[in-house]
Amino acid sequence: MARTENHKERMAEALGAFLAAPPPNMPLELLEAFGNMVQTEDGVLPPRVFQEAVMQSPVAISITNIQAKILYANHAFLRMTGYEEHELIGKNQSILSYKVTPIEVYQELWENLLAQKPWNGVLINKRKDGTRYLADLTVAPVLGMEGETSYYLAMHRDVTEVHELEHQVRNQKVLIESVVDMAPVLIALLDIKGEVVLGNQAYQRLSNDLQGEEPAKLILSALSDVMGAEIFIGARHGHNFLNKEIQIELPHATGANTGSMVGTKWFSCSEIWVDESNIAVDDYFEHKEKECCLLLVANDVTQQKQQQEQVRTNAIRALMAEQQLVHGMRETLSGAVFQLQGPFNMLSAALAILTRRGEDANDPLQTALQEVLNIGETVVGNLNAALPRRTKEAVQPVNLNEVVHEVLSISTERLLAQGVQVDLKLAPALPSVLGHRYELCSLVKQLVDNAIDALGEPGVVRRELLIATQLSDDNVEISVQDTGPGMVDANRFKVFEPFFSGWKQAKSKAGMGLTIALEVAKYHGGSIEIMPQNQYRQGCLIRLLLPLQAPRQLTDEMNK
Ligand code: FAD
Repeated sequence: MARTENHKERMAEALGAFLAAPPPNMPLELLEAFGNMVQTEDGVLPPRVFQEAVMQSPVAISITNIQAKILYANHAFLRMTGYEEHELIGKNQSILSYKVTPIEVYQELWENLLAQKPWNGVLINKRKDGTRYLADLTVAPVLGMEGETSYYLAMHRDVTEVHELEHQVRNQKVLIESVVDMAPVLIALLDIKGEVVLGNQAYQRLSNDLQGEEPAKLILSALSDVMGAEIFIGARHGHNFLNKEIQIELPHATGANTGSMVGTKWFSCSEIWVDESNIAVDDYFEHKEKECCLLLVANDVTQQKQQQEQVRTNAIRALMAEQQLVHGMRETLSGAVFQLQGPFNMLSAALAILTRRGEDANDPLQTALQEVLNIGETVVGNLNAALPRRTKEAVQPVNLNEVVHEVLSISTERLLAQGVQVDLKLAPALPSVLGHRYELCSLVKQLVDNAIDALGEPGVVRRELLIATQLSDDNVEISVQDTGPGMVDANRFKVFEPFFSGWKQAKSKAGMGLTIALEVAKYHGGSIEIMPQNQYRQGCLIRLLLPLQAPRQLTDEMNK
């Protein structure tokens, strides 16, 4: 567009008072350009306002000619650089150069300006006193009426402190991330929905061991069980806790070495709720409820736990040996009572017949029979009285995964001696049931012992034992499957009768084991079932179900 006298007049009018008192060295064309800039829809902004705004702006502003010679610098520029105005006017902007900014940066700056494009970047500047600072510089060409570059407008801020802070934050972040990542404890950060947003290396390792299962979910589920409350309920208010112990199972632990806690990991867990400020711009003025994150820290205490378990297992072994002795005595005495009861019943029947016939009451046979019966009753009574009583145990929460491990630990020698391959498929996190711990151990041991006996039967080639636990509806289930000779359907219920024994090899057994096991299961509100042969390929599959909701007799016993 050609510049006309008319245009000059309009500009002069528009700039009004600003033209009457222009800043020193500020050329007319520059004022024209600014005049164009301050045109608003409602008219023209008084130039004095514009001039004051530039002068007082907290950002360092300078205007140069196209060789970068300074024509104008505002107060902030003078404050920031330490120069007086007269020391700057007419000097190249390079007066601020600390001479360490790479030449490529300047080349890029100038390439943009020559192409009439603005440029933004960071330079290292020096003040009059020689101190240096980081300048976040924006330069833009100011075009004349005919589209040619007439001036350059520059604005810069001292960003040294911001840069230092940024670096400090970045360094701290790197440091914290490295420490968290390398920490031997497992650390995970979960969002409010329970999704893992961050997990350190120890967490990733466990994730690999769990073959795709999310460790945090298992840990939280196990914690919910231990603490008797859903961890995510009331999350926003955050209930922190420290050092709660839980156990989880690694999947598919296979091997003859069943003595150690193969596949079980113990963790001491702490949970801290972290308030996260909302950084969304829209929420700047609104004090919305803060977002909560859950910091989960889990320390692997498996080794210590294994040592404790070893001590406990030894104690259980001793206790179970005693219990077995008691069981054996009960079995033998019950057997004797049972055996005696038959002949006595026959004698009693004979006596009843003789009495009904109205034979002489002084008949020596009747008298002898009566005497024998009396002696018999006394003997049976004495034997019953001699039956050792079941030892009373406290009711407590029992984790059946632990029970399985304990039983396997006790049975290690037998398993190894018979070359049995054990396959464990334990539920990664199993809720506890209420019960008598040692009785339940004896029960599971009975099932395992039976399976080992079955694997020792003649003709068994593959000796494998699969023990699995799972949550099944409102029950905890343990299944024990062997690759022995199996059981004919006709015996599926008979085996629970006293003195039933179908073993070819283990003939010495009295046949009370499953009877007592069923008694224990029933007392705990549960059941034992031998699955029909057509439901699996080989051997025998026996399933024990124990309810999560303890039966009345157990809760009553506990509340006594
Ligand atoms: P110079 O020889 O001046 O420049 C280095 C390179 O820049 C040259 O090789 C050339 O490629 C290019 N160049 C320089 N002048 C021109 C030109 N007139 N036309 C085309 N290309 C050119 N520098 C700072 O260090 N700090 C600042 O705060 C700063 N602010 C500036 C503000 C404005 C508005 C402008 C236009 C420039 C600014 N500069 C600033 C750049 C400054 O003018 C110098 O280019 C720079 O400081 C390097 O100076 P030098 O003496 O080391 O090298």
